[in-house]
Amino acid sequence: MSSTVQQPAIDAQAVLRRLGIEPVNSGVCWGEWIANPSGGELVSHSPGDGSELARVRMASEAEYDEVVAQAAKAFEKWRLFPAPRRGQIVREIGDELRACKDDLGALVTLEMGKILAEGLGEVQEMIDVADFSVGLSRQLYGLTMPSERPGHRMYELWHPLGIAGVITAFNFPVAVWSWNALIAMACGDTVLWKPSSMTPLTAIAVQHICNRVLDRHGWKGVCNLVIGSGSKVGERMLHDKRVPLVSCTGSTAVGIHVAEVVGERLGRTILELGGNNGIVAMDDANLELLVRAVLFAAVGTAGQRCTSTRRLLLQKGIAATVTDRLIHVYKQVPIGDPLDAGTLMGPLVSRSAVQDMMRGLERIREQGGEILYGGERVDLPGGCYVQPTIVRARHDMPIVREEIFAPILYVMEFDNLDQALEWHNEVPQGLSSAIFTTNVISAETFLSARGSDCGIANVNIGTSGAEIGGAFGGEKETGGGRESGSDSWKQYMRRQTVTVNMSNDLPLSQGIQFHI
Ligand code: NAD
Repeated sequence: MSSTVQQPAIDAQAVLRRLGIEPVNSGVCWGEWIANPSGGELVSHSPGDGSELARVRMASEAEYDEVVAQAAKAFEKWRLFPAPRRGQIVREIGDELRACKDDLGALVTLEMGKILAEGLGEVQEMIDVADFSVGLSRQLYGLTMPSERPGHRMYELWHPLGIAGVITAFNFPVAVWSWNALIAMACGDTVLWKPSSMTPLTAIAVQHICNRVLDRHGWKGVCNLVIGSGSKVGERMLHDKRVPLVSCTGSTAVGIHVAEVVGERLGRTILELGGNNGIVAMDDANLELLVRAVLFAAVGTAGQRCTSTRRLLLQKGIAATVTDRLIHVYKQVPIGDPLDAGTLMGPLVSRSAVQDMMRGLERIREQGGEILYGGERVDLPGGCYVQPTIVRARHDMPIVREEIFAPILYVMEFDNLDQALEWHNEVPQGLSSAIFTTNVISAETFLSARGSDCGIANVNIGTSGAEIGGAFGGEKETGGGRESGSDSWKQYMRRQTVTVNMSNDLPLSQGIQFHI
């Protein structure tokens, strides 16, 4: 391990200024910022050095209601605005994101702590989703189907749904909003965003960008922001019948609560929850690829991706070699200021995340796990830095089934593919998975119905770093949601099955006769 302490090359105050962040900001907006909202004050600290970045005034329940009323009003018009023209507005948001990619990427790094390359990557992901969504705005296709009745035509129409509530986690503070919001906007929904309280400034910066574009076209209430606590503002959204869809990205515990509350009012949910992702590496794997992939997937974002690799299942023949090589590369990971171009691992998001990791390591030791590398705090400004950690573990240690949101990698040794599949699938989460092999039979078995039970299954690629074109999400306790690409858009719309009778007769389906 090497640590870097250098002066950041980026002027944080200048980045904040250019993105419209003031020392004290309103966190509530429906196109107009609500001045001095009354839900209390939130301080945003940079995990990179513990400094205060800015303050945010949060929404009270009354201000939440005001924003929802505006979002509902805007929906009445936005849903009638032609979809390709909605797409053009999303295109302009994408252009604005391109123009401020460097600043917004730096702000993601400043506020959340991921390294600058990943902060920039996150903004690129928003740009990619914007492009996807522009194309989508001309492709909201419904099927036509042959009617069994003569002189009849059947087809389906897709209509906008209403206000799409979007609750996001701290670790992808802006990209996850875009997966939902930019697609929902093309679909004709208005969007109500409640970001994580750990990352309010990135949300405010994105809202400024959206306001700039929407203002140019005379729209208000299409993109809306309510920064407030989960227990007040978040809870209000879950119970709010004016919000027909709540898309929630976060921990499984919060997701279960969201499902219960929104489900009780028969609202829709999209749930993107915790992961516990495994890589199965066979004896015939390309070890160069494997070690590089594990390094990125387990250490990248300091192990704080939902898709981070947490479990590495190694076949016996390569287990010792791969473990040694990983320890060797882990020792060289530069840890330090996430704004520094030489850093590969920045801080955890907060000191309490560091404590959670340390508590997790205690439990790992109690359960018989052997720490092969890492496991210590790293003494750098802000107090949020840790070593990436490799643990020799048994698959049946209870803690291996939990998601510890930190750079802890469990290494386990297996005999054959059947055993590896059993161990791989026995955790409660089901987000991302991968196999490393040069054998087509092993690869196809991993992808088959008796293979990986996850929403994402890769061959010779790590578990993290998905492209936006596919549907993203996972099974079991990961919540079953799918966002971003493929046909995820359908969740933001309501489907109407239409049958038109162009005849002068009234035949009934299933051949039923019903006349006097
Ligand atoms: P978290 O569960 O603590 O918070 C997520 C969001 O839920 C936050 O905005 C929070 O304010 C909100 N919230 C909390 N209580 C609420 C309530 N009662 N009502 C409404 N909203 C409420 O998660 P986190 O620590 O911010 O993020 C890390 C977690 O997110 C990890 O478990 C990670 O795996 C998961 N995650 C999943 C995906 C995915 O796509 N599957 C992506 C990113 C993160």
